[in-house]
Amino acid sequence: MLMSGYQGGFVPHLIPEVTERLAWRSPPVMQAPLASQAALQSILEEFGKGYRTFAGLEGVLYSCNQDPMVATPSGFNDKKGIAVWPRSGRISLDAARFMSLQSAVRPDWLEVLCDSDTPAGRVQEAAEEVTGPLHRTAGPVLCPRTALFGALVGGHVLDDRLRSARHAADKPLDGYVLEGLANGPESLLLPSVDSIAQLVRGTLRAGLDCFDSTYPSLASDRGAALVFPLVPRTAASSEASAADATKVTSPEAVYEMSLDDKRFEEDDAPLLAGCECYTCTHHCRAYIHHLINVKELLAPVLLSLHNLHHWSSFFSAIRAALQNGTLAELAECYERLEAAPGGTNS
Ligand SMILES: [Zn+2]
Repeated sequence: MLMSGYQGGFVPHLIPEVTERLAWRSPPVMQAPLASQAALQSILEEFGKGYRTFAGLEGVLYSCNQDPMVATPSGFNDKKGIAVWPRSGRISLDAARFMSLQSAVRPDWLEVLCDSDTPAGRVQEAAEEVTGPLHRTAGPVLCPRTALFGALVGGHVLDDRLRSARHAADKPLDGYVLEGLANGPESLLLPSVDSIAQLVRGTLRAGLDCFDSTYPSLASDRGAALVFPLVPRTAASSEASAADATKVTSPEAVYEMSLDDKRFEEDDAPLLAGCECYTCTHHCRAYIHHLINVKELLAPVLLSLHNLHHWSSFFSAIRAALQNGTLAELAECYERLEAAPGGTNS
C-alpha cells in the first residue's frame, strides 16, 4: 500500500485541482504529520469535523509523528514531551496535549506519540515516561474505529530496537511503524533501504506493507524525474535503461533523471516514453528544463505529477507481482538494473 504525504492539507507542490490529475492507482492514504496538524489545531477545534473534512480530502487520514520530508532537530525531546516543529516554532506535546490535538484532527489511523530521536540507552525511558500510557488509551478515546499504530524506536541500536518491540508487543495495537532510522531527506527511499531491489526483495519479504511518497516528492524538489522501469525486462533492456538514466544524474541515483542538465535544452521527448501522466502527455523535457533554469514554480509541480504517478504505478506493479507470484522476477529486474554500468552496485 502507498501513502501520499500531505503538508498543511496539500500534496507538496500540488493544489487540490492539480492533485485531481494524479489519478491514483489505489485509494489514497493521506499522511499528515503532527507539525501541520498543530498549526491548524484552533481552526480544527472550531470547525468540529476533523482534518480530512476541513481539507476536503477523501480516503484514509493517517496521523504520523514527524514529517519524513523534513529533517527534525535533535535533542529536544524529554520526559515532559515530544517536540514537533510547525513553521511558527517548536511545540512540546505531552500525552494530554497530543490527545487534545488528535480529538480535533480525528484521524482514521493514528501513530502513537513516540520519541524517535533516541540515542542508545534512552529508548525505555522515552517509551515509558512519555508515550507508554497512550498505547492503552488513545484508540478508544478518539473513536472505536481509529486504528492504532505503535512506533518501534531505538535508532540503529539492535538491543534498543528489541526492547522497543517487546514494549509494544503486548499493547492492543493494529499495526507498527518503523521510526527513527532516518531523519528527513537523508534517506533515498526508506530508512536503511537505498535501492529499489532492496525494497522489492528485502523489505516486502520482511513483512512491511505500507510505504510513503517521500522519495518521489524529494526527487521533484531536486529537479529529477523518476525513470526506472515498472515491469520486469530483459537484462539488455534494463542495462540500456540504466545507461540512459546515468548519463545525466549521480551514480547512486540510477532511478532518476536530472532535468537541469543542459542536454535537455532542445529535447522534445516526454519525461518517460509511454508514461500516461499529465506531464508526459502535455509537456516535453526541454520545457521542464527551461522551467528549472528560470526557477519557475511550475517545474516541481509538473515533476510531482509525473513522479507520484510513476511511484503509484510502481506499487501497482508490486501488487500485481504479489498476486501473480512474480515478485522474485521483479526484484531480479532491479538487481540487474543496479548492477549495470553506472548502477548503484557497479
Ligand atoms: Zn509521466
